[in-house]
Amino acid sequence: MTSDTDASKKLSLTGLPASQIEEHLKLLGEPAYRARQIYNWIHHRKVESFEEMTDLSKLLRKRLSDRYLLRTIVLEKKNTALDGTEKYLWKLSDHRFVESVVIPEARRNTVCISSQVGCSLGCSFCATGSMGLIRNLTAGEIVEQVLQVRKLSEHKITNVVFMGMGEPFINYRRSIQASQIMGDPQGLAIATKKITISTSGVVPKIYQYTDDGHPFGLAISLHAPNQSLREQIMPIAGKFPLDELMASITHYMRAKKRNRVTFEYVLLHGVNDTASEARQLISLLSPIRCKLNVIPCNQNYLGFSPPPPEHLEKFVSILMNAPFTVTVRKNRGEDITAACGQLAVEHQEKSIYIR
Ligand code: SAH
Ligand code: SF4
Repeated sequence: MTSDTDASKKLSLTGLPASQIEEHLKLLGEPAYRARQIYNWIHHRKVESFEEMTDLSKLLRKRLSDRYLLRTIVLEKKNTALDGTEKYLWKLSDHRFVESVVIPEARRNTVCISSQVGCSLGCSFCATGSMGLIRNLTAGEIVEQVLQVRKLSEHKITNVVFMGMGEPFINYRRSIQASQIMGDPQGLAIATKKITISTSGVVPKIYQYTDDGHPFGLAISLHAPNQSLREQIMPIAGKFPLDELMASITHYMRAKKRNRVTFEYVLLHGVNDTASEARQLISLLSPIRCKLNVIPCNQNYLGFSPPPPEHLEKFVSILMNAPFTVTVRKNRGEDITAACGQLAVEHQEKSIYIR
């Protein structure tokens, strides 16, 4: 059973699979079907307190609220950008902060969620990485971001991506548990292929993820087509070199015969955006059933800038010869610093100094 508790030491039932809620209910002498009722109330009927679970007896509701919680994250601030992108700042029970971002598009609305407060991997272009790791989020804190956003957003959420703060494969167990609840038809009922886990390349976890047979989408943050450049901008490449990363992805693709893997490539002007790098990308990725998402980097205080438009065009035109799909991501929500690589530093620092 998980030990994910808040500061008050009450356990949150949000983020627990129905089977674990069942074990807790057993301790209270309640039958198994009560657990399914409660699980349904949390995810389908979107209640925020036990008091609202009106088909449970008053006594049971009281016993539950004496022992358990349903909410552990509190909305501190919501901003909406000119392009409709919404940024949510959440205050956690230990007064840390994380963010989620909703990106509305013509055919889908994606919520980008966090898996950790900060990140230990220190990619040189990423604001979250510059904070270091403060802590892992619990499965409940991860699920709650989606539950609460579903209530608060102007848009109906169709997709979930783990591309907010943190590295989900460093917080593997809780990220997977949260994804399973999101993908469970009795849980948040989001189609599993519309849930995407993004990793910067924690190779042993890519093997574990494959062998565990999880059905969610996988995105790899690549950002460089060769080892020496990757090592310069992503310290994790020193630990898990590019050839080992590619071998793990080949293993994943063999197991997932019908899936495609997505590669993310943040373009940093003067660092990884030359014609030579575009050509190297084609040779590296051609053997793999994949999609490449090219992302002109978002400006933060780390000193990198996106390529000028002509330069971007040239890079992309070379990739047009590739046998895989290439997309270029529009920058979203920049006026509210809601874009990838810009998340949550200001507030975190404030919280550290105040305490
Ligand atoms: N740690 C995981 C998931 C969270 S990061 C990962 O790295 O995949 C989410 C995405 O934001 C990654 O693809 C990351 O490379 C990207 N990102 C980080 N800094 C960025 C920046 N300055 N501009 C654009 N994207 C950035
Ligand atoms: Fe961590 Fe991902 Fe940022 Fe790298 S890009 S520092 S792995 S959150």
